[in-house]
Amino acid sequence: MVVYRCRHCQRVVGEYGGSWDDPLLGLSKLTAHEQQELMDDTGPDQVQVNILCETCLPILYTERLWDN
Ligand SMILES: [Zn+2]
Repeated sequence: MVVYRCRHCQRVVGEYGGSWDDPLLGLSKLTAHEQQELMDDTGPDQVQVNILCETCLPILYTERLWDN
C-alpha cells in the first residue's frame, strides 16, 4: 500500500490500498531520482510518499523553504 505523509508535520494525509506504481497515482512517471526523493520503503508492501499537506504547503511557501 501507499501512505502519503506530510514531510513537515508528519501527518498522514492519505492512504492508497494499491501498489505505488499504479498508473492512477502517477508516481511511476517520475524519474528514478524524483522517486528516490519522494518515496521511502517502510515495509515489504508499503511505500511512504513524503509530500506537503494543505496546511503546511502555504506555510512553507511563505517561508521560502523551497529554496533549501
Ligand atoms: Zn503538514
